[in-house]
Amino acid sequence: MVQAIVGANWGDEGKGKVTDVLAERSDVVVRFQGGANAGHTIINEYGKFALHLLPSGVFHQRVVNIIGPGVALNVEALLKELAALEERGVPQPQLLISDRCQVMLPWHVDFDRLEEERLGKHSYGSTKSGIAPFYSDKAAKVGVQVCELYDEAFLRERLALALPRKDCLLTSLYGQEPTDLDGLVEYLLKLGERIRPMVADTTRFLHQALKEGKTVLLEGQLGTLRDPDHGIYPYTTSSSPLAGYGTVGAGVPPTAISDIYCVTKAYSSAVGAGPFVVRLEGAEAEDLRRRGGDAGEYGATTGRPRDVGWFDAVATRYGAMVQGATEMVLTNLDVLGYLDEIPVCVAYETAEGERITDFPATPVLMKCKPVYERLPGWKCDIRGIKDWEKLPENCRKYVEWIEQTVGVPIRLVSNGPKRDEIITRNV
Ligand code: GDP
Repeated sequence: MVQAIVGANWGDEGKGKVTDVLAERSDVVVRFQGGANAGHTIINEYGKFALHLLPSGVFHQRVVNIIGPGVALNVEALLKELAALEERGVPQPQLLISDRCQVMLPWHVDFDRLEEERLGKHSYGSTKSGIAPFYSDKAAKVGVQVCELYDEAFLRERLALALPRKDCLLTSLYGQEPTDLDGLVEYLLKLGERIRPMVADTTRFLHQALKEGKTVLLEGQLGTLRDPDHGIYPYTTSSSPLAGYGTVGAGVPPTAISDIYCVTKAYSSAVGAGPFVVRLEGAEAEDLRRRGGDAGEYGATTGRPRDVGWFDAVATRYGAMVQGATEMVLTNLDVLGYLDEIPVCVAYETAEGERITDFPATPVLMKCKPVYERLPGWKCDIRGIKDWEKLPENCRKYVEWIEQTVGVPIRLVSNGPKRDEIITRNV
């Protein structure tokens, strides 16, 4: 059985926590796209962690964690994360890296930074971790797969072919020094040796695991609205965060996915550039930002303050639809306990004054304004509550309103950042 855990919105929905929770009853957790550019926050018996590349199953010793072929593998960042877990007393996790996964090269990170600097105020708000240049190179067939790190002649020949184009850009557009081919080859071979024991044919492993009746979780990074095809292009990421892509980026048959858990927050948050219709400003924003997440809404990777807003039904319904959500997980519900009334965005108003409820493409979206309704608040702290029936009535009504508006059952409600702060519903 394969279950996907993916984001309905702009990312940071709390997928890491949900994966950590569901991993308890799973056998394999796979990261299938993205790289070290986003962070999944997890708080459990070992402490608080922001995982960037490691799958969120690493805290469960019986779980096999896989970096799938669709991931942008920054080897140094991965090894750093592993070392940090060890330092903090987490037993060594089981980890496999796909031999077809591609490796982040130093020039990817350089190009990302240099391009954002060149674009200046028109930049896309990249985390500068090399993701866009990495996936561009993959599409252009000049990327380097992990398996190539064990064949020096093959690796050297391919890099030598790619180099003139890279150096042309580096020197003439960005005014940098050209690349030292020998140094690059030597560096990559060393990286290969450091991960050699973890490298495997993970696709074969996954197919075998499924044959044996194991449960596999696919862990998405970011959310629908950052998908390069279906998201807010060009304010998107460079790999698809959709459950549908999970089958490609991990290497499992599309028909194997039985559940798509689409995670959304009880309010909205977004980091990076681009239109965000429900963006709040001033004291109202500061209040929500300070109370949000486990320690305020600040990026787990970059520390950047996230933009915040009220729940956006237009964006979330679209996000869940594109993901093909079979169930929703609503997180951060506890954060809203301070409000007398909770605004929710039920429609957008376009520049022409038309009221729309279908999420539009970017040029229209840029000019949309939110249309709000207000739902009654519950004015108390709901952390610590374990049963659905024990939640205040207005709180349950808020969840039910979102469920009806999005049109997908909400099976899990998260009422705090810790692993055990989660309520299961029988819907
Ligand atoms: P991810 O990338 O989707 O895993 O999300 P992030 O980890 O970037 O952001 C989610 C934030 O919400 C983190 O600060 C989590 O600790 C926090 N979080 C997750 N679930 C809850 C919850 O139910 N309540 C509160 N207060 N915080 C939560």
